[in-house]
Amino acid sequence: MTELSKADWHAKAEQIRNAAQAGAKMIINGRKVDAASGRTFTSISPIDGRPLAQVACGAEEDVNRAVQVARAAFEDGRWASRPPAERKLVLRRFADLIRAHREELALLETLDMGKPIADSTSIDVRAVSNCFDWYGEAIDKIYDEIAPTAASAVAMVTKEPLGVVAAVVPWNFPMLMAAWKVAPALATGNSVILKPAEQSPLSAIRLAELALEAGIPEGVFNVVTGDGPEVGRALGLHMDVDGLFFTGSTQVGKYFMEYSAQSNLKRLGLELGGKSPNIILSSYRDTKHAASTSAHSAFFNQGEMCTCPSRLIVERSIQDEVVETLLTISRSYAPGDPLDPETSMGALVNESHANRVLAFTDHARTDGADVITGGKRARTESGGSYVEPTIFNNATNDMRIAQEEIFGPMLTVIPVDSVEEAIKTANDSCYGLASAVWTDDLATAHRVSKSIRAGLVYVNCYDCDDMTTPFGGFKESGIGRDKSLHALDKYVELKTTWMNIEGRP
Ligand code: NDP
Repeated sequence: MTELSKADWHAKAEQIRNAAQAGAKMIINGRKVDAASGRTFTSISPIDGRPLAQVACGAEEDVNRAVQVARAAFEDGRWASRPPAERKLVLRRFADLIRAHREELALLETLDMGKPIADSTSIDVRAVSNCFDWYGEAIDKIYDEIAPTAASAVAMVTKEPLGVVAAVVPWNFPMLMAAWKVAPALATGNSVILKPAEQSPLSAIRLAELALEAGIPEGVFNVVTGDGPEVGRALGLHMDVDGLFFTGSTQVGKYFMEYSAQSNLKRLGLELGGKSPNIILSSYRDTKHAASTSAHSAFFNQGEMCTCPSRLIVERSIQDEVVETLLTISRSYAPGDPLDPETSMGALVNESHANRVLAFTDHARTDGADVITGGKRARTESGGSYVEPTIFNNATNDMRIAQEEIFGPMLTVIPVDSVEEAIKTANDSCYGLASAVWTDDLATAHRVSKSIRAGLVYVNCYDCDDMTTPFGGFKESGIGRDKSLHALDKYVELKTTWMNIEGRP
């Protein structure tokens, strides 16, 4: 929690707003540039519906320019050829600069996409600086290999950067989703083009400026702003982009597979949607704790989380007790002013998303679930996009609220009668990102966690993580992993160099 008061944050936010009046440009080759067409789009703050900035609206020609400079930067080795120990120092300096600009970056995030300032500061900015520190620190501690061949040869298996990589990211954790891709990509020596979501471009631009200040050479980290079907698509189809790393919806992830197939078979990393099952069993003694942690995790970040535990699968014998606790916790998530450090739920990213989320209340009623709290707009006087925390009870897993990703503060409770039914229900989804099981029985914990088809399984906790563990999903939740040392493999090619050292074989 930050020490600044609500009034302090409002005063600082006004300064940021005033500065943003000058407009937000792309960063290409170390310079702030307008779109070649001169076009801009308006970034609106969901906090109050007020315009924040006119942002450069890039298109294919801007992507071509960025790819060209990124390629030139890669080819002349200004970054890729620097010793890993030097890249480490620069990345760690970048992390220090992010920490030094903590309040400014947190405000950009909160103003642009609506999350509470306490979260932007203590979670987003902290995690972003930590991510650059972690990959910077890792990169000069990883060795290549010598294969165990016959003595007549030396076969080296070495890792080389892909070259030019693009990162296309969503708006729910704009800086953090970018950092999970940009940090390992830079650490391994690639040149990068980042495309932030059009709803939240401001922090990406500022990050690229700080990267330059930290010593990342011009042309190595570029930002092209604009909308997905234009800029994202142009990156996906570009013949000179070697890898494309995407976080976003499953639908757009599928487009990227098409773009890759239609162009140069560029490598893809896809972190996609989720509909995470969270199983609370009667064999877990502290039902209140399980329910309360589940509610906090479901409403955190306005529910705009790919890992949101949005399907709460509960044994019928403890359903009432669980639901009572969920209701109690939901009251502490009444939407508030995102610039108030006491606020725990802010605004949804924009009006159209708020409308889409609210429509699920109608779907729930139509399909026969009970809407036991929420389901309406909040803080309408603010001009912003706020939705009440919402709980659907007595749902079944075939309902739309149990199958579709809502990406808002809505929690679906599905009662079941046995552990087997809980597992079956959990796996009855096209997604497989996160999941959880609550039980004090070790054998059950082991059996359930092995049976769930998901990239992340939490036992008796939710959303616990740090940089050391991989993050990503099974099934339609994606391909590949972010975070941890495993993520570095996505950004490198393996090369085998076989040297014959004893004359002809
Ligand atoms: P989208 O898939 O709509 O957008 C993500 C990014 O893709 C944005 O930068 C967007 O640009 C761009 N994009 C949109 N359409 C296209 C297109 N046709 N071609 C190329 N690029 C395109 O997702 P949201 O922004 O709505 O984010 C929410 C989604 O992200 C959820 O499904 C969520 O689960 C997922 N997510 C997954 C995570 C994970 O790690 N698995 C983590 C966080 C979120 P623009 O917006 O500018 O049009």
